[in-house]
Amino acid sequence: MGLLRFGKAGFSFWRLRVRLGGILKREAGPIRWSRWLEIDLGALRANLRALKGLLPPETALLPVVKSEAYGHGLVEVARVLAQEGVYGFGISEPEEAFRLRRAGLALPILLLSGFERHWLPEIVQLRLIPAVASVKMLEAVADFTRKKALSLEIHLKLETGMHRLGIAPQEVPRALEILKANPQLQVTGLMTHLAAAENPEDPLTREQIALFEELKRKILSQGLSGIRFFHLANSGGIIFLRGAGGNLVRPGLSLYGAYPSFRARAYVKLKPVMTLKARVLEVKEVPAGGAVGYGPLYRARKRERLALVPVGYDDGYPRALSNKGFAVLRGQRVPLRGAVSMRTLALGVSGLEPPVNPGEEVLLLGGPKEEVPADELAQLAGTISYELFCRLGKSLERRYRDV
Ligand SMILES: *Cc1c(COP(=O)(O)O)cnc(C)c1O
Repeated sequence: MGLLRFGKAGFSFWRLRVRLGGILKREAGPIRWSRWLEIDLGALRANLRALKGLLPPETALLPVVKSEAYGHGLVEVARVLAQEGVYGFGISEPEEAFRLRRAGLALPILLLSGFERHWLPEIVQLRLIPAVASVKMLEAVADFTRKKALSLEIHLKLETGMHRLGIAPQEVPRALEILKANPQLQVTGLMTHLAAAENPEDPLTREQIALFEELKRKILSQGLSGIRFFHLANSGGIIFLRGAGGNLVRPGLSLYGAYPSFRARAYVKLKPVMTLKARVLEVKEVPAGGAVGYGPLYRARKRERLALVPVGYDDGYPRALSNKGFAVLRGQRVPLRGAVSMRTLALGVSGLEPPVNPGEEVLLLGGPKEEVPADELAQLAGTISYELFCRLGKSLERRYRDV
């Protein structure tokens, strides 16, 4: 009897463990998320090829994968781009380089935005090419490599009108002096960054290009040998200016399938890489005059049907889209009603027949046919697609597809 009872208890204990195990497994893996990102790596490949098609064939590509590859997943994105044959990657912090190296990626990595002195040991260890963006940084890297008897490859980042990072034209002679006294520093690239490349008419772009050419001539005439790369173009500079005369380009946004400005759509066809989807949580009827959500920022003018979707500003979906955003359900655009709250938003779905059911899939950004264009949604939210991608990508589960 005792044995049997013990056995029964043992049995149910075992079942409990199985069930617990099931729950734990479910929490660890994305079995049935109500909202998620789909990252289409095939689209990423297609975008890289589309950009290559705009450029002189010998142009080297340095995809920018900073900020978690604009929210698309640093390592996943870099692996695919490495397979496609790129020169290297652009990042902004050693931590990102550490993850790329740990993933087995051995390509050159350019630290785009300068560095702090205490990063230098890691820069050397991870074999990074730092963009040296001030005389102070140049002194720091010269000092460090001299003391350690190391040689190091660097790029010089020149300031040509953006007034952000970079060695200013009047500081170039001083930089050249330091370089002459420190032959362990090998300058292999000269770069600058365009402030307004997404507006092809902006005279600032022409001025920046002219100043870059002038500084390039000055530096090359000083007998610095070994400079192989000249680069200034981000996505705008690639699409509108075909690399702006450089022999290396640094595409970010366009690789991820978004356009730096609406006008860029006339120059190249890109595919969205990031798609935000969710399943309808609940469908509600609101009477005429009924309030919807916080504020209330919306009242139904007549009886209205709403689909509640479990996506909110905590997921990186901008609250600024309250009453302004839209989504696509059954291939049709439906308006966002009322406030975007922390974890929920409401869509007006009265127009859809038969009525929408809980569990139906909603497309909130991207889509295979760009049903919800990032630039359009970003504009409605008063921001840019860069910010949408970065914020969503850091908050939500990413599922990858590669074809
Ligand atoms: C982020 C960044 C880029 C990429 O710009 P996109 O507009 O996203 O193409 C290029 N160069 C530098 C120096 C950057 O910091």
